[in-house]
Amino acid sequence: AARPVAGGARPPALDALLLNRDAKAVRSSKRVLCWLRQDLRTHDNAVLLAAAAAAREAEGVSVLPVFCFNPSTYAAKLPLTGEAKTGARRAQFMLESVSDLRERLRALGSDLLVAVGEPEVVLAELAGDAPAAVLTHGEACTEERDAERAVAKALLARCGNSALVRVEGGFTMYDERDLPFDLRAMNDVFTPVRGKVEKNCEVRQAYAEPASGELPLGGFAGAPGLGSELPSLEAIGVDPEAAAVARAAPHRLAALDFKGGESAALQRVKYYLWDTDKASTYFDTRNGMLGGDYSTKFEPWLSAGCLSPRHVYAELMKYEDNRVANKSTYWIRFELLWRDFFRWYAQKHGARIFMLSGPARRHAKWRADRALFERWVEGRTGVPLIDANMREMAATGFMSNRGRQNVASYLALSLGVDWRLGAEYFESALLGYDPASNWGNWAAAAGVTGGRVNKFNPTKQSRDYDKDGDYVRAWLPELKDVPAPFCHEPWRLTPQQQQEFGCVIGVDYPKPAGEVPVWSGESGGGRGGGRARARCAAAAMPAVGAKDPLEGVTDMHGFEVVRSDFVAEYGSAAVLLRHSKTGAELMSVSNDDENKTFGVVLRTPPKDSTGLPHILEHSVLCGSRKYPVKEPFVELIKSSLNTFLNAFTYPDRTCYPVASANLADFYNLVDVYMDAVFFPRLTPSVFQQGRTC
Ligand SMILES: Cc1cc2nc3c(=O)[nH]c(=O)nc-3n(C[C@H](O)[C@H](O)[C@H](O)COP(=O)(O)OP(=O)(O)OC[C@H]3O[C@@H](n4cnc5c(N)ncnc54)[C@H](O)[C@@H]3O)c2cc1C
Repeated sequence: AARPVAGGARPPALDALLLNRDAKAVRSSKRVLCWLRQDLRTHDNAVLLAAAAAAREAEGVSVLPVFCFNPSTYAAKLPLTGEAKTGARRAQFMLESVSDLRERLRALGSDLLVAVGEPEVVLAELAGDAPAAVLTHGEACTEERDAERAVAKALLARCGNSALVRVEGGFTMYDERDLPFDLRAMNDVFTPVRGKVEKNCEVRQAYAEPASGELPLGGFAGAPGLGSELPSLEAIGVDPEAAAVARAAPHRLAALDFKGGESAALQRVKYYLWDTDKASTYFDTRNGMLGGDYSTKFEPWLSAGCLSPRHVYAELMKYEDNRVANKSTYWIRFELLWRDFFRWYAQKHGARIFMLSGPARRHAKWRADRALFERWVEGRTGVPLIDANMREMAATGFMSNRGRQNVASYLALSLGVDWRLGAEYFESALLGYDPASNWGNWAAAAGVTGGRVNKFNPTKQSRDYDKDGDYVRAWLPELKDVPAPFCHEPWRLTPQQQQEFGCVIGVDYPKPAGEVPVWSGESGGGRGGGRARARCAAAAMPAVGAKDPLEGVTDMHGFEVVRSDFVAEYGSAAVLLRHSKTGAELMSVSNDDENKTFGVVLRTPPKDSTGLPHILEHSVLCGSRKYPVKEPFVELIKSSLNTFLNAFTYPDRTCYPVASANLADFYNLVDVYMDAVFFPRLTPSVFQQGRTC
């Protein structure tokens, strides 16, 4: 198996890993239990390293790593849907991860005790009656925090001197302790948070794994259960029928044959970066839906903690130094920062991310339509992009990010179904379920986070991201002979075509569950290849084609994000930036209008009533440094495709806007106009002439 390459200072001292108070608690115990949960790895694992440091510092310290298959996680049902809280596939992935971790710990001269039971019972029993310290990475979400409290309480009850020690960090790429803001006051919108973090923080070095012999089992060597067989899926609470499916060979269309464990995780990183250079094209492929390599597929390993994001970061840095540094390699880090963001967001908002009105306390009418929800789950909504993705999820436990955005938007915004049902279904079915990322993304999709709301038009999305229909046809055999574009909107087939393509709507493939998501735009039509406006008939919220205006921007040219918002009235995403040196403000707005618009606005408050600002407005349009002709705009307009070109003087400001649907024309206009505004050929005679006009 690949070994980690993390290069952090080794071995770190206890004081470098823990707060004073916690280091003291560990030092006062000769028995240290490492309670591993979503950190199933030996590399970059501060819990293991803190235990190793304690054993180095004092004679006779015994260390036992422990993992518990908690029945309230593995044998329980979710409250709204009744789905298994941990679906069989993820349970299998976790079993594999635990098995791999045990092998790796054994290779270091340690072991892993694998128990089936409540952690508070298992750990208190193992801690016994002499002082013991239980080390664990602190978790972010309510349920996991409750489990920590239960363990702390049980330890205290068992032996007054035993303690639970929460080790910080370990889950995110950026360490929360380095953030330049208080989490409680964190902006709820990603872009400004990203701006601040990227500007002010550095990713800490990943730790190397403990050296062989650094985790002495000592007195724990004979602990009951140590060395016994791993439990079966059934023994940890998985339904036997589902367990059999989870153990079977992966579906032939599965994006990847995901194997749990750190060894497979490190192998995947190696494959994606070093063996295939896929990391260097990630930006262009990341919206794909078919196959293993359009995205990293790190998710299940990151969520189980088999892979440290800091290790990924370190590898990306090395890759950039040795192979290529481009937008794609940056974008993987960008996505990992999204993951960090949702973790911090969950910490900030606590239980609210699980509530119907969300952190934004947005109260809307949601449908509790069970039948509609079931159709969505089973991939029978009659909307191919949604159905294909849902069937992929059910058959494999994975779905692309593009798919997730669409199915979530469709359930919550198009069908108006209680979004928590969808989030629960994902919680059950996803291999890479992570509470903060899942519930945070769902709340965002449902429009209850306070961030931008994207209502996707699945027909447009299907045509944009699955142009030839390969993805929908692969997952929907009913449509296998239906050509594009009909496979994206089969309700448009005439009765004859339905016969011809062997797909009768309402018989072979369902009629759409909601109103049909019409997409009337044709790529390449209109001026400058612009696109017609999307019409989304099922309207719970306005249809939006607005991208993040900063998407793809890697160099901010000295600007900082001040605010980022979605303006529902205009269906536009807007970002306000400020230039750090000059204070110049820049507002960038994105929507699905085919026009590209640019304007400069200058403050021109008048000192008197001579009309000077208006005279100046006219004067600047009489030739410039680069275009020293008398009337550049008269010349320009003759051949320009502009859709707007004007200048106005208000009582306190002067504006110079231009617009065109043609990109080349747009840049020409901007060039001529900006030269006029900033470098006018403003001679006394031009001014006099303007004054007398
Ligand atoms: C409704 C919904 C539910 C989701 N549920 C989860 C979940 O339970 N667990 C989870 O890890 N991600 C979740 N995501 C985020 C994202 O879809 C997955 O992380 C990504 O698709 C996994 O594939 P990948 O590893 O190939 O990602 P890549 O595209 O290769 O991205 C690399 C990594 O960046 C992180 N990442 C990327 N996008 C996001 C995002 N939007 N939010 C948080 N992290 C991100 C992930 O850790 C991912 O592995 C969800 C997104 C949506 C819209």
